[in-house]
Amino acid sequence: MHAIENHPPDSDTRHPEAMLFEIQRLSTEDGPGIRTTVFFKGCSLACTWCHNPESISAQPQLHWIASRCIGCGTCCTECPEGALDLSADGVTIDRTRCTNCGQCAAECPSTAMEIIGTRWSLDNLVHEVLKDRAYFASSGGGVTAGGGEPGLQAPFLAAFLRTLKQESIHTAVDTCGCFSGRSLDDFLPFTDLVLYDLKEIDPNRHRMFTGCANARILDNLQTIRARMAAGASPGELWIRTPVIPDATATEANIAGIGHWIADHLRGAVSRWELCAFNNLCRDKYLRLDRDWPLKANPLLSRDMMEHLADIARCSGVDPDIVHWSGSTQCPVT
Ligand code: SF4
Ligand code: SF4
Repeated sequence: MHAIENHPPDSDTRHPEAMLFEIQRLSTEDGPGIRTTVFFKGCSLACTWCHNPESISAQPQLHWIASRCIGCGTCCTECPEGALDLSADGVTIDRTRCTNCGQCAAECPSTAMEIIGTRWSLDNLVHEVLKDRAYFASSGGGVTAGGGEPGLQAPFLAAFLRTLKQESIHTAVDTCGCFSGRSLDDFLPFTDLVLYDLKEIDPNRHRMFTGCANARILDNLQTIRARMAAGASPGELWIRTPVIPDATATEANIAGIGHWIADHLRGAVSRWELCAFNNLCRDKYLRLDRDWPLKANPLLSRDMMEHLADIARCSGVDPDIVHWSGSTQCPVT
């Protein structure tokens, strides 16, 4: 048996189950207040700058963390497929043989081998996130579903958010917008806030950077806007644009996104955030044996982010909704 096919787990509505790759507590970047963010595994895009490369495949994946490895060789002995080799450079994984069975990870004494991706039942996940309820209450926070693309597991997502709303928890969905528009009807009624990525306005460049054109993403965004205009959920919409050197960080793109928001979403967006590139995720690519062309890209300068934010403010949107975030280069003195 070799690689498992790449599609999300079944979401039986009686016994729903989701494939997740992380639950992050005390987050302050995924909506208002202190939040617990649940990361769904599996994405419809494959952005060149992706900060969560482990999120793209919908299936569990093995990774090896060099800094934790004590070189004992247990994993190599345990692997039934002979997919592992230990040398002076560490452990190498033959991914054409690895079935992601997890046997090596289970026996590794130092957690250097890990399987990313765990199936969660609805009851267990709700129980887990409600442990943070006191933080939500004191900060005006809540739970955010991110990924990956949570909309690809819409039946589970809807059941999860519905249960949280029954518990009076604020809910947010962080989405790239690339999924079947019918899925919106499943989960929007239980979503207080949508954090929606608009990365690149030119469809050809969008396809070049992410693997998909942006027509469906723009269509879904207009559906959300129509729901809001009808007084339905979500109550709030934020747009986020990753600002990536040699890709989305152009005046034409920022102005183009701004014009589109002004033309199609007027009055509906309460925040448009330009998110500055960083390369903190480069080790994640190494652990998955993947090269990352952006690994040596420098941070953008503060002047550049201010300049692009000014362009955004002059693009026709309400200037007060424009913000930028992220680390920038120290100015040369
Ligand atoms: S997960 Fe580990 S034990 Fe299982 S096939 Fe892959 S390398 Fe071998
Ligand atoms: S079992 Fe763990 S610690 Fe030992 S060689 Fe394998 S990855 Fe390293």
